[in-house]
Amino acid sequence: MVSGLHRPTKLVIDQQAIKANIQQEIQRLAPTTVLWAVVKANGYGHGMIEVATTARHAGATGFCVAILDEALALRQAGFTEPILVLGITSPAYAKLAATAHISLTVGSQEWLVDALPSLQAGQLAASLAVHFAVDSGMGRIGFRDTATLQAADTFLQQHAEFNLEGLFTHFATADEADTTYFEQQAAKFNQMHAALVSEPRYVHVSNSATSLWHAACNGNMVRFGVALYGLNPSGTALEPPYPLQPALSFESELVFVKQIQAGAAVSYGATYHAQQAEWVGTVPVGYADGWQRRLQGFYVLINGQACEIIGRVCMDQLMVRLPEKLAVGTKVTLVGENGGQTLSLQNVADYANTIHYEIACNLTERVPRVYL
Ligand code: PLP
Repeated sequence: MVSGLHRPTKLVIDQQAIKANIQQEIQRLAPTTVLWAVVKANGYGHGMIEVATTARHAGATGFCVAILDEALALRQAGFTEPILVLGITSPAYAKLAATAHISLTVGSQEWLVDALPSLQAGQLAASLAVHFAVDSGMGRIGFRDTATLQAADTFLQQHAEFNLEGLFTHFATADEADTTYFEQQAAKFNQMHAALVSEPRYVHVSNSATSLWHAACNGNMVRFGVALYGLNPSGTALEPPYPLQPALSFESELVFVKQIQAGAAVSYGATYHAQQAEWVGTVPVGYADGWQRRLQGFYVLINGQACEIIGRVCMDQLMVRLPEKLAVGTKVTLVGENGGQTLSLQNVADYANTIHYEIACNLTERVPRVYL
């Protein structure tokens, strides 16, 4: 995708904030527990390579991604740390992963069987590192009972093409105040873990929420994702044990300013009509940048004041109602601080009736990322 370098719209990523969030977390971990940074989906929209670089400086010793291509991109960028692909990869790519020393998630014995032809074709420089996923209640991927887990483990131990590097699970409700379901999942995972004859190097259950609020469960690795970006995994439901520092700001400028008269309409569908003479600013941000149409009626910050997004959000532009005539070039903040006021990704998510994860991931590559 073409990046908009000649338009005044950018994401500003504060690497110090990322570093601080990771260092705070590492301080709370047991000495035998390591932190792997979850940098999938372009580092939750923040930029995968830059976030991984910062995370490594902060003490992360490995990375988690969602798909093999993200892992390969990290390798291509020169990262030599362990990398785990959290999703299911086609067994056809087993050898590609093994060659690049990328660890894959496996949730069935069938997968191992299907991966053998790939691993057995020609020379194999390294065995494939496997993390067995346990479905303890997330209902997404993984072994659901001890018998199938044990059978897969036995099969794996009989084939030198594989090595069992990890065992893990993922919690569905670690970010909620009610811990009933979490405890059921933890018990199920412990039972599955106990059934495994071999003890893999990494046993891990913690996403950000688990590590923040259920640290006693942490195995010897945590998969630290959203909190490293300074976002509270629970939204506003639970207070984090230390202040998280949001890393992302989204900024633009007014590129066109005009006064419209009472009754004049703004944007597609003419859904907004001025009540009186109004000053209107145009901001070069639209849904092609990830600023969704449902944000009509929400606001941006200009000179510390909330300015409503009026009319429909277009693909590349949106209009805001200004308190007065303002100069073209005036700074517009869509996320972050402006004039002593803060507009957070959580505020945006609340208005859009979603979670901040989704808002951040939707910010497209067209918006350049600038790193502080
Ligand atoms: N582990 C797994 C298996 C995940 O799917 C994810 C994210 O979706 C994470 C860890 C990181 O979660 P979070 O960003 O909530 O820390």
